[in-house]
Amino acid sequence: GVSTPAAPHPADADNTGTDAATTVARLNAAFATGRTRPLAWRKAQLRALRRLLVEQEEVFAAALKADLSKSPTEAYLTEIGFTVNEIDHTLRHLARWLRPRRVPVPLALAPARARTVREPLGTVLVISPWNYPLQLALAPLLGAIAAGNCAVVKPSELAPATSAALAHWLPRVLDPQTVAVVEGGVPETTALLEQRFDHVFYTGNGTVGRIVMTAAARHLTPVTLELGGKSPAVVDPGADLAAAARRIVWGKFMNAGQTCVAPDYVLAIGDTGPALEAELAAAIREMYGEDPAGSPDYGRIVNERHFDRLTALLADGRTVAGGEHDRATRYLAPTVLADVDPESPVMRDEIFGPVLPIVRAPDLDAAIAFITARDKPLAMYAFTSSAQTRRRLTAETSSGALAFGIPNAHLSVPGLPFGGVGESGQGGYHGRRSVETFSHTKAVLSKPLALDTLRLAYPPFTSGKSRL
Ligand code: NAD
Repeated sequence: GVSTPAAPHPADADNTGTDAATTVARLNAAFATGRTRPLAWRKAQLRALRRLLVEQEEVFAAALKADLSKSPTEAYLTEIGFTVNEIDHTLRHLARWLRPRRVPVPLALAPARARTVREPLGTVLVISPWNYPLQLALAPLLGAIAAGNCAVVKPSELAPATSAALAHWLPRVLDPQTVAVVEGGVPETTALLEQRFDHVFYTGNGTVGRIVMTAAARHLTPVTLELGGKSPAVVDPGADLAAAARRIVWGKFMNAGQTCVAPDYVLAIGDTGPALEAELAAAIREMYGEDPAGSPDYGRIVNERHFDRLTALLADGRTVAGGEHDRATRYLAPTVLADVDPESPVMRDEIFGPVLPIVRAPDLDAAIAFITARDKPLAMYAFTSSAQTRRRLTAETSSGALAFGIPNAHLSVPGLPFGGVGESGQGGYHGRRSVETFSHTKAVLSKPLALDTLRLAYPPFTSGKSRL
C-alpha cells in the first residue's frame, strides 16, 4: 500500500484522534491568531496541496487501487487530477471571490456606504465517504481553506489506504496548526460531532446525514449535506440510442457504479426499451471486453456487505448483460436488468453499484410523473433530440443537477455549484460556491457622524416630521 517513512514526524501527534475536544480547541486557538485570514496564506496552502497531489500521485493512486481497485487513469481523472483542477480554478479566482461588494444605500440614509464582506467561519468539520475517498475529502477541504478556515478532515474508514495516506500527508504539507486529520469510524465521528464546529460538511448517505444534522443542531452549527439518491437517465424516442447507451454505460460503470451521481436507472420512453437493451450490452462489451473481470479499467465492490446487498438485487429483473459475480474478489460484472417492476427492491433504494435497471414509461408525461413521485435525485440525465422535452424536464422536475447528453460530467465544470435538493442533500460546493459555503457574508454599513441627516428620524415624532 502506502509508503510511510520509518522516522516519526511531529505532525503524527495530531493524527491520533483520541481527543476530539483537544483537536478542536487547538484549531480554534490557531484560528483566533488570524493566521488563516491572509489571502497569501490561503493560496500558499492551496499550492502546497497541489504540489502534494502532483508529487505523490503514485502514492494516492496506489491507495485508491488498494481500496477500490481503481485504475490509475480513472484515479487521476476523477480524484487526483480533478482536485488539482479545482485548486487551479480556485487559485485563479479567489481574490475576486473574496473582494468586498458595494451595495447601494437608500437615499434616506445618505451619505453612507454599504458593502458585504466575506469572513471565514472558524473551524469546520469535513466527513467524507469511501467511494471517491480522495476527491470527497480534499475538494471540501480546499474550499474551507480558500475561505480562511481551520479544518478537521474525517476520511472514511471503509477506504483505509486512502484514509492513512491523507492522515500521513496532509499535516506534513499543510500548516499543521490549522488542519487535522482524524481517522476512524462511528465512535471517532460521534466524538467529533459532540464538539462545537462552525460548519459541518458531510458527504454520504441520508441516514447518517440525519445523525449529523441532529448533532449539529445542538450547537446551531450549519451543515452541508451531500447525499445520494436514484438519479434517472431518461431516454427519449428519436435520440441516438447507441450514443446514449455509450454515455450511460460510461457514467454508470466507472468506479463499478459506486458514484453518487451515476445514472441509477434508465427510464426508457415509448419503444426505446428493447433497442436500448442491445445497445447497452454492446457498449459494455466495447468498453470492458467480453469478460470485464479481466479489464484493468473495471473496479471492484468496496466490501462484502455491499457485494451481498448488490447481488441480492440481481433477481429483480431479466438479465440483459452481466450478472456474473465472485464474492472472493468482490467482482460484480456490469449488469443491465430489464422487465423491472418499479416497486421491486432494485427500484426502492439507491443502487450504488454496477446494476442498471431499465424501467419503461409510455410517454414523457408518465416519465415526469414517475420522477416527481419519488425523492428528488442528486442528478437527472436525459438523452433526447427534442427541445420541448428538454424544456419540460427542466421546468417540471427537481434534482440537484440536470444534464442533457452526458452523465457525471457536471462535476467537472468548476463554475457549476454541486449539491443536492431534498433527500439528495442541502447546500453546495465547488469553485465559488465552496467559498460561499465556508464563509459568512457580513453586512457592513458605515455612516459618518458629522452631518446629522437623521434628525428627522429621531423622536419625538412631532407633526411636521415626514416619513423616511
Ligand atoms: P461511508 O460509509 O463512508 O460514510 C460516510 C461517512 O460517514 C464516513 O466518514 C463514516 O465514517 C461516517 N459515518 C458512518 N456512520 C456514521 C454514524 N453513525 N455517525 C457518524 N458518522 C458516521 O459512505 P456511505 O454513506 O456508504 O456513502 C455512500 C453514500 O454517499 C451514497 O448514498 C452516495 O450517493 C452518497 N454520496 C454522495 C456524494 C455527493 O457528493 N452528494 C458523493 C459520494 C457519495
